[in-house]
Amino acid sequence: MDGYLLACRMKVLIIGAGFGGIAAAVELKRHGIRDLTVLEKAPDFGGTWFHNTYPGCACDVPSHLYSFSYAQRRDWSRLCSPQSEIFDYVHRVARELGVDRMIETGCAVTACSWDDAACRWTVTTEGGEVHESDAIVIATGQLHKPAVPRIEGGETFEGHSFHSSHWDHDYDLTGKRVAVVGTGASAVQFVPEIAEQVRKLTVFQRTGNWFLPRKNRPYPPSFKALVERVPGVQAFRRRFMFEYCESLTLAIRHPGTFGRLLHLKSAAFMRSQLRDPELRRKVWPDYTFGCKRVLFSSYFLPALARPNVELVTDSIQRVTPTGIVTSDGRLHEVDCLIWGTGFKATEFMFPMEITGAEGRDLRHAWAGGAHAHLGIAVPGFPSMFIMYGPNTNTSGGSIILYHEAQASYIRQALQQVQRRGGGAIDVRAEVEAASDREVQSRFVGTAWTRCDSWYRDAEGRIVANWPGYMREYVERTRELDPAEYHFVQQPAPVVA
Ligand code: NAP
Repeated sequence: MDGYLLACRMKVLIIGAGFGGIAAAVELKRHGIRDLTVLEKAPDFGGTWFHNTYPGCACDVPSHLYSFSYAQRRDWSRLCSPQSEIFDYVHRVARELGVDRMIETGCAVTACSWDDAACRWTVTTEGGEVHESDAIVIATGQLHKPAVPRIEGGETFEGHSFHSSHWDHDYDLTGKRVAVVGTGASAVQFVPEIAEQVRKLTVFQRTGNWFLPRKNRPYPPSFKALVERVPGVQAFRRRFMFEYCESLTLAIRHPGTFGRLLHLKSAAFMRSQLRDPELRRKVWPDYTFGCKRVLFSSYFLPALARPNVELVTDSIQRVTPTGIVTSDGRLHEVDCLIWGTGFKATEFMFPMEITGAEGRDLRHAWAGGAHAHLGIAVPGFPSMFIMYGPNTNTSGGSIILYHEAQASYIRQALQQVQRRGGGAIDVRAEVEAASDREVQSRFVGTAWTRCDSWYRDAEGRIVANWPGYMREYVERTRELDPAEYHFVQQPAPVVA
């Protein structure tokens, strides 16, 4: 099946040109689809790595793993590459594999609608363009819509403010009084960078985090030479990191046993970094290790101990024109407010309007929480595929492995359609329902269920994460089983 070429006549639209969209485009192009367009809302492609440019922005997954299996690099500058290096990497891959010219930037898709009679999708953009295709791949990701909390008085703030994913590089923080709301993976990276620059930094923490060490210094030249010149070293590192990441999932899946070991490691590290008992008390998390994303940084906790940095754990009550008032009644006056408050992960592609067969609305189909077979296929939405869809996020691995698995699975789906002479492919409702039940049941007893996190939707259902290991997901998606799908026949051409 792998060598089977997809007919050139099939037209596929991919929505989103981050790592997911690029992965899908590469896979489909390689297998013969020529009529392929990637619509990207932003003025450039790269997704997360285009938008997030905050100081210290880097991937917290090692680059030997956070990279395509077919586009391995031996010259990464450090364990976890900075944003600019990853942005250059994804651009280079797209250029070298010829998918960059398929990307149309500045095209914000507003609606995708399935036409039962024509057996095709119609995709509409904000600018009023209309595209038609035989299949759509929605690759808008989970972490692209900034979440700025609605706080009383938020609009009255007279200082400067921005979200971490839209960093204002024109605003000079030097000598300013700055507030950072949030202490997640993004804030943990930029707080140590700006702490040295600002006059006063007030960090508002709602929940503490578990930390593991990471210095992420540039590789010494001798190590770089080893990786570049000695065959097998890079492949070994990739394998090693894969297994290391799987061990994090092992700890999350078994909080009472393996999780305890990593908990102890994290606690020892945090104790060594937090000498001041009062600061330690404030930072210490009150939930099971691994429930939220574990943060890798050797610099964040020491930054909190700087004399010009204050960690505030009293809850935020309201924003005033000059600062933030906390529950103890204190007004923290600031010149600039930086929201490190994450993303609306559980909204997936919405507010895009997605209409499937017989006028089905995806919002309605997902009213009880997002779900899709293997995170990819939704019943009643023929030949619509999702990259990085529901329950495919990883707390301890590389999302690029998932992207490659999804791209290959989608390609197989289209090959099945092609073998049947056209039409569309639609996952059987009972298959999707059973796989959703299985996914949800696998969270039972894991650390993920032991706190609130962005992995859950408003009703508390975990919709972001895959409940298992990377290797399981790759295995489950390796070969598409046509019996899990039914095939929509292309209508016969009308003869005049
Ligand atoms: P995040 O992990 O969702 O963190 C948001 C922070 O804002 C949390 O500390 C949260 O507190 C806080 N917060 C949210 N609403 C708040 C409110 N109303 N009042 C006070 N605090 C509030 O967001 P993020 O740091 O941008 O990271 C998002 C995800 O992006 C990460 O988990 C990770 O998957 C990804 N990321 C990856 C990398 C990487 O290197 N691979 C780097 C950055 C980000 P609570 O904990 O109490 O909710």
